[in-house]
Amino acid sequence: MTTYNIAIDGPAGAGKSTIARKAAARLGFIYVDTGAMYRAMALYFLRKGIDRNNEKAIEEACEDISISIHYKEGAQRVLLNGEDVSGLIRTEEVSQMTSAISVHAPVREKLLELQRELANTRDVIMDGRDIGTCVLPNAQTKIYLTASSHVRALRRFKELEEKGLRCNLEEIEHDIIERDYRDTHRAIAPLKQAEDAVYIDSSQMTIDQVVEAILEAAGHGNPKDGR
Ligand code: C5P
Repeated sequence: MTTYNIAIDGPAGAGKSTIARKAAARLGFIYVDTGAMYRAMALYFLRKGIDRNNEKAIEEACEDISISIHYKEGAQRVLLNGEDVSGLIRTEEVSQMTSAISVHAPVREKLLELQRELANTRDVIMDGRDIGTCVLPNAQTKIYLTASSHVRALRRFKELEEKGLRCNLEEIEHDIIERDYRDTHRAIAPLKQAEDAVYIDSSQMTIDQVVEAILEAAGHGNPKDGR
């Protein structure tokens, strides 16, 4: 079966999920948020009190974890051993744990197959850190979406403020920079721009402008077979 795959990679807070969700709705594709899958795994390790650096314990625990996703009213829900944990994985504690545990091979291997299977059976927009480089190297359209760390921190700050949560802009920027460093410097599947990806810096762009740029890039893609 031929499916159309759009891969979007980029650092934390670049707007990938908001933009991918909108673009997917326009195209009638499903949106696959791979970060949510890594986050669900991190939540498991946090709950079990497993040390983020204990590779052996992480590898063993991976055998007890089952991650799956389903769609409810068009939105992706992520299930951890059958429990919908979508509402529990957006905390700063989970964000930091996620980037720490996603350096380990067993964690990545666990999710790779699920991600490829989704892309092989459905037209998808999939976002993450290694989609264009590792997960879907043959995706018809690849986007590398970024923005300055300051702009990304400001966006996150406003988001939290709107939710009535107290936060500190400098701390947010510091956390973003720390997470970016780990994601770009890890040995396995680090965040980097795929050679054939379209580079978009959204610092000075609106959400709709970015969505249009992605749709335009996809419109020029050449359909290929499979992944
Ligand atoms: O995209 P999001 O911010 O939810 O991702 C959380 C973390 O999950 C990232 O900081 C990264 O460490 C990890 N991740 C990854 N590979 C992906 C998606 C997310 O390593 N494809």
